[in-house]
Amino acid sequence: MLEGIVFRSTGSWYEVKDLVQGRMHSCRLKGKFKIKNLKVTNPIAVGDKVLFDPEEARIEDILPRENYVIRQSVHKSAHAHLLAANVDQLVLIATLKSPRTSLGFIDRFLVTAETFRIPAILVFNKIDLYNTEELEYLEQVGEMYTDLGYGFATTSALEGKGIEELRETLKGKTTLISGHSGVGKSTLMNTLLPELELATSEISDFSDKGVHTTTFAEMFEPEEGTRIIDSPGIKELGLIDIEKEELAHYFPEFRRLMGQCKFHNCLHINEPKCAVKQGVEDGELYISRYNSYLSMFENDDNRR
Ligand code: GDP
Ligand code: ZN
Repeated sequence: MLEGIVFRSTGSWYEVKDLVQGRMHSCRLKGKFKIKNLKVTNPIAVGDKVLFDPEEARIEDILPRENYVIRQSVHKSAHAHLLAANVDQLVLIATLKSPRTSLGFIDRFLVTAETFRIPAILVFNKIDLYNTEELEYLEQVGEMYTDLGYGFATTSALEGKGIEELRETLKGKTTLISGHSGVGKSTLMNTLLPELELATSEISDFSDKGVHTTTFAEMFEPEEGTRIIDSPGIKELGLIDIEKEELAHYFPEFRRLMGQCKFHNCLHINEPKCAVKQGVEDGELYISRYNSYLSMFENDDNRR
């Protein structure tokens, strides 16, 4: 029996890399695997560490996961899809322009990362397109998210700016990369993994949505130990179900103040003597974050 890591899955076949020899093996799953407390359509995902029998081309067992990322079905009762396991960090590729990534969308992504307890990094691409005002605005955005404890970086895939820094950020880690169509994810991936020539989807107009070319999550290893997982569009990496009462817990800066609210079950909406609302008024909390909270709170379907 060998220990391996799953690099690709098609649903019935798994590409497993032998962790000692470094060779790839195509394996099937032995029998049926059930995962405790997790209703998912697929028992094994990219990034899973497994024990496999190379002679039989069979995965015999899954080793305990450090974490996992799932994609909730639009129908809450349906099973979720397991996207990846043992992920060190989540990267969201964003842009201010062509197409604009809203702060609301970014905050939903960050809340998702918090629910999985995985560190998150925002990468703003296409900085070659921004004017002076936009660059100043981006600097403020960067300061805010850095202050909140998230990673922040800027790139121009077109002009090759920030690429070395990004490479450094990814080095030695397993990273799940996501981003709305058109932000330049494929272009960046091609730069990071030049030998792969991933298909890029052209968009003629920034309101157009590129076409997804990735169906299954796939893991690449540009150098030993540095692993990049490409997932289908971020829209599909939606939120897992969050109770409204819990939502504020996934805004780390709210957590510090919440204990001082008058009501222990305060939702930070209309309640009197709410420390979170006070924090916004006093300028201790970022108003855009509170607005994202309100919008997520009011919108039952946070997956959009
Ligand atoms: P994806 O849908 O996120 O994979 O986006 P693509 O990589 O297909 O890129 C969408 C469009 O944006 C293409 O026309 C790219 O050439 C363009 N693009 C990607 N990165 C940059 C960048 O840094 N600057 C500019 N100006 N355009 C970019
Ligand atoms: Zn409150």
